[in-house]
Amino acid sequence: MQYSEYGLSDDQKALCAGVRALCAKYPETYWQALDDKMEYPYEFVDALTQGGYLSALIPETYGGLGLKIKDACLILEEIHRSGGNAAACHAQMYIMGTMLRHGSEEQKRQYLPGIAKGELRLQAFGVTEPDAGSDTLSISTKAEKKGNRYVVNGRKVFISRVLQSDLMTLLCRTTPLEKVQKRTDGLSVLLVDLREARKNGLTVNPIKIMLNHHTNELIFENVEVPTENLIGEEGKGFRYILSGMNAERILVASETIGDGRYFVEKATTYANQRVVFDHPISKNQGIQFPIARAYCAVEAARLMRDKAAEMFDAGENPGEQANMAKLLGSESAWQAANVAMDTYGGYGVTSEYHIERKFREARLYQVAPVSNNMVLNFVGQNVLGMPRSY
Ligand SMILES: Cc1cc2nc3c(=O)[nH]c(=O)nc-3n(C[C@H](O)[C@H](O)[C@H](O)COP(=O)(O)OP(=O)(O)OC[C@H]3O[C@@H](n4cnc5c(N)ncnc54)[C@H](O)[C@@H]3O)c2cc1C
Repeated sequence: MQYSEYGLSDDQKALCAGVRALCAKYPETYWQALDDKMEYPYEFVDALTQGGYLSALIPETYGGLGLKIKDACLILEEIHRSGGNAAACHAQMYIMGTMLRHGSEEQKRQYLPGIAKGELRLQAFGVTEPDAGSDTLSISTKAEKKGNRYVVNGRKVFISRVLQSDLMTLLCRTTPLEKVQKRTDGLSVLLVDLREARKNGLTVNPIKIMLNHHTNELIFENVEVPTENLIGEEGKGFRYILSGMNAERILVASETIGDGRYFVEKATTYANQRVVFDHPISKNQGIQFPIARAYCAVEAARLMRDKAAEMFDAGENPGEQANMAKLLGSESAWQAANVAMDTYGGYGVTSEYHIERKFREARLYQVAPVSNNMVLNFVGQNVLGMPRSY
């Protein structure tokens, strides 16, 4: 099935073709085997890094491809459309934004070339805490300045890819909540060298969870981080994290759109081939219409993603469009996942046909990396001007 490549330049079509060719070497059976063993896709992530794709958003001066967010979106979309999953490494794309926008020139020179070459992995992003959840401003992991070090104590949960990363950006309190004027003040972003930290007070407890989300509980006990690893200014970290949210939502929307296209394509092909009552099941409107409806929903979400990405690349603030793209993308992918499940009948729940694995993966995007409720909060309050529930 050939999807329309509307709105893509020749360079973007070539970029998609390159990612598609790489993904063809990692077919659905590769992901299924990893799912069975709950292993991280090291080979795939290496190939993606060697192909330069993970450095898409690093400027050329620091050894990256220097592409735009729309290009990064196409990379992630193609991976998901092929039946693979970019969640094992996608964070590198949006985490780097914090360093790119707010890091010092020295930090960029020190870390970005190594990340672009794949010698350094910055895949982990530590925000969520057990007692704060969606209420990020209530986090209590604290970093106290002692001489030329911050001493970090606290607990984080659901922090993905810590065991597959050399570096992690960490959001923590440098001024206690009761001493700040605004709740958004007093939070800071530190770049933690995980190789050092794990020898020096950081305990990493893996959480048993679905494939591609190798996520962990972290316990910090007097972990020392050099003050030169502070990103930007002390106390302004929440603003830095917020400034990365649009990119995160646009990139995650792209993964959901790739999933949606995957399910529609799989369901269409299967429905045309499967013969019951002497005709292909695709002839039944009970099968055909839901697939057509899911197709419409996924392509509409794609248009919103394109709009958000284009605004981002033009330097405009796409907060509204980025949030809507994430909501519409994740909902349309879930719609398409259910349609594929129905189309495959009993075979949908067998692992051999890959639908049940992708079905689980598509469901997650309703909740993480940001819950759709929080996306609706953004639209309700910031776009429509209704009151906050919190
Ligand atoms: C696989 C996976 C990987 C993750 N990786 C990372 C990571 O790498 N780094 C990281 O920092 N975090 C990560 N997270 C955490 C993720 O961002 C959080 O799970 C998410 O932000 C929600 O927090 P919570 O699970 O504590 O839910 P809670 O905050 O307990 O919320 C539970 C439910 O209540 C809803 N809710 C709460 N308050 C409101 C309200 N005011 N209005 C409407 N609805 C509300 C929420 O939307 C949600 O549906 C990951 C999570 C998962 C599952």
